[in-house]
Amino acid sequence: MKLTFLGTGTSTGVPQIGCHCDTCTSTDARDRRLRTSAIVTTDSGANILIDCGPDFRTQILGAGSPELEALLITHSHYDHTGGIDDLRPYCKGGRHFPTYCTADVAADLRARNPWSFAKHLYPGVPTFAITEIRPFEPLTIGGESVLPLAVMHGQLPILGFKFGSKLAYITDCKTLPQASIEAITGIDTLVINALRPQFHPTHLSVIEALDVVEQIHPSRVFFIHASHDMGRHTTVHLPTGIQLAYDGLTIDV
Ligand SMILES: [Zn+2]
Ligand SMILES: [Zn+2]
Ligand SMILES: [Zn+2]
Repeated sequence: MKLTFLGTGTSTGVPQIGCHCDTCTSTDARDRRLRTSAIVTTDSGANILIDCGPDFRTQILGAGSPELEALLITHSHYDHTGGIDDLRPYCKGGRHFPTYCTADVAADLRARNPWSFAKHLYPGVPTFAITEIRPFEPLTIGGESVLPLAVMHGQLPILGFKFGSKLAYITDCKTLPQASIEAITGIDTLVINALRPQFHPTHLSVIEALDVVEQIHPSRVFFIHASHDMGRHTTVHLPTGIQLAYDGLTIDV
């Protein structure tokens, strides 16, 4: 299995519009953080897209426009779903793009993209085959087992995902229910959000993320969904085995 980080930034992206701070003016490509999204490539070669934010078009062109098997959605915030209309090229020939999300997210998608769910479709609009999923009810995509995890994004219940037995992907977490911690304890690779050193009401800060990591005991960790307050990539110093991911990074799992 492989994981490619398409985007590792928070909702504003980095650089942030109008900001001239040290991070936002960096010329290091690793300090250019598009909105958080990733591709998991299964051992059978299927590419599973996790979230589809407003930077999707740029991200997928940068990744070489690979075939996509399905979309898994963590939650319906704009930075995670704002790009679904750009899945249009993947819907050629009447394909309904396989999309996995909770019932609440499905309702949000239908409300925000009515042209894709209308009775009489305008020619060429992207269409979706939505499968409603729930935490801890396993599914199989591209020959790989996927277990949705319960994650709390402040007061909002969202999903994380465990792929096979080795990889867990969690974004926009503030707290992790005990059942989710137990489902991924001792996992090989943990991808989890860490927004910035400072406290935030709905996202884990660095210190809080390190505390969650300690409870899970993964072999290695990649932090995602970082804001400009995280600082430049070269100035972020984390304990051994934990690193800040960056856009375009691909890891073998
Ligand atoms: Zn987000
Ligand atoms: Zn900035
Ligand atoms: Zn969010």
